[in-house]
Amino acid sequence: MIIAVDGPSAAGKGTLARGLAKALGYHFLDTGSLYRAVGLMMLRHGKVLDDAGAAAQFAATLDLTSIADGDLRNEDVAHAASRISVYPAVRANLLQFQRDFARRKPGAVLDGRDIGTVVCPDADLKFFVTAATDVRARRRFDELKGQGGDVTYEAVLDDVMARDERDASRATAPTAMADDAIMIDTSELTADEVLKAVLDVVREHAKG
Ligand code: C5P
Repeated sequence: MIIAVDGPSAAGKGTLARGLAKALGYHFLDTGSLYRAVGLMMLRHGKVLDDAGAAAQFAATLDLTSIADGDLRNEDVAHAASRISVYPAVRANLLQFQRDFARRKPGAVLDGRDIGTVVCPDADLKFFVTAATDVRARRRFDELKGQGGDVTYEAVLDDVMARDERDASRATAPTAMADDAIMIDTSELTADEVLKAVLDVVREHAKG
């Protein structure tokens, strides 16, 4: 069983995907962490983000320890991830890892931008999780503030919009809703409400 959860940043897809995996006893992969790990390596090695070759090489040598780094959640790393994720060679080098993960038994939940469209077009269930831009920026701002970050709401909003624009307009595997995905707008819902609604769909699906 493969469940794909896609959507723009800070829409709540990570929280949903993690909660789903826990409730169902499935494996969970936050595919954004792969792109973030490549971005982090670029920053740590002092590479310019235009260096597609270096990014592709880091993507080819990625291992599981690099996606557990505490610095992955930083905003400069999110920015770097969004920049390097436009390179087709980076995406190609991360594809097999994601597909292998998706086949894990008894099932896997993957969240990202292109899981239902490119990584696992044959996923059993696909969800596209979204929310109004200001709601997403507010959530990301609260999260960063909670971590003690020195940020303003305006800066976070600008960043969320710039990232959405880049992720949705890139030529290779842009953020997109698969034709057979179920859209969930989380603007007015709590994380628990989203999880419950999606679990109901999963259980209905399991009944056949
Ligand atoms: O989801 P998260 O914000 O951690 O992702 C960081 C960046 O990685 C995104 O802005 C996007 O550019 C990229 N990404 C991607 N494809 C995925 C997951 C993330 O391009 N499947």
